[in-house]
Amino acid sequence: MRRATSAFGIALALVAAGCAKPPAGVPEGCAYGVVDLHVDLPFQVHYRGRSPDLSQPGSDVTTASLRAGCVQLVVLSLFLPTGLRPRPHSLDELLAVLATGEAIVAANPLLTLSPGSGVSVVFSLEGSQAVAARPDLIPSLVQRRVLLFGLVHAHHNDLADSSSDPHPGRGGLTPAGERFVDAVYRAGALVDLSHASDEAFEDVARIAHQWGRPLVATHSNARAITPHRRNLTDAQLRTIASSGGIVGLAFHSPFLRHDRKQATANQVAGHARHLMEVMGPSHVAIGSDLDGLIHHAAGLESHQGIAALISALHRQGIDGEPLHALLRDNALRVLAPLGRRSRRR
Ligand SMILES: [Zn+2]
Repeated sequence: MRRATSAFGIALALVAAGCAKPPAGVPEGCAYGVVDLHVDLPFQVHYRGRSPDLSQPGSDVTTASLRAGCVQLVVLSLFLPTGLRPRPHSLDELLAVLATGEAIVAANPLLTLSPGSGVSVVFSLEGSQAVAARPDLIPSLVQRRVLLFGLVHAHHNDLADSSSDPHPGRGGLTPAGERFVDAVYRAGALVDLSHASDEAFEDVARIAHQWGRPLVATHSNARAITPHRRNLTDAQLRTIASSGGIVGLAFHSPFLRHDRKQATANQVAGHARHLMEVMGPSHVAIGSDLDGLIHHAAGLESHQGIAALISALHRQGIDGEPLHALLRDNALRVLAPLGRRSRRR
């Protein structure tokens, strides 16, 4: 396997190495640092009129809430809504949303695409239909810091089946999906399993194993606690753990409790406890889904609520190094090597 390390990968690795002993390297004035694996801010700016200037209020994410939450790195997801006309998921549309993501970074001095100070930003795709027929474009997206590729959103597409689509599936990855997943790993990026069907999960896990890559589900919780198809079974959690991967805890109430009521920070912590029991302490992370039109868990309407979540995690007995691992270090471990290319398995 040949690898060329990107400058970005090296920089992230340095951030990770410098932070091996928490709380070293955390944001100024903070006792901890946070990585959030899934935030839908570009959707708010591109489609819902939110100002890219985060010093202004307008959505879950603001400069003040990022600072108050001690956020160190955030993965901004690039999401194309259904029902777009005339060309629902065109490449042009995706590139326009990516440009919006980059414009958000440019508009806010706190944000940076070069890790080291401020809040580092990388991008993910939430659904890859727009590039389903163009896996050759993946390396150019990786160059622009798109490091995680979710295959689907709420509907089956040309690559894979979705966990949320009521129509009968086709059994996981399509042949184009298999080629796409290969291309993602070849480009040094990772597949995001959140939203994939159980069958697609199995198919991606098989290919990731061949490449020796960690499995990632950026915003999904435990199905054993809340039986929602967007959540992960214990068997899936064990598969992720054995790959060295991570699961990001989401703050969306329906993934946290099944009675349609608003969830609490205690319930997020309960899911964290379960994930840690099944996977061990090195595989749990945060993937809030803030700005994704979620039904927020109470008190977790922004990153400012992370402090309350930490109190809830303390009550679950999660403290010290496992706590710092959950908040930041597990995610940095998985994200740091990304962007290095390998030409073959
Ligand atoms: Zn999502």
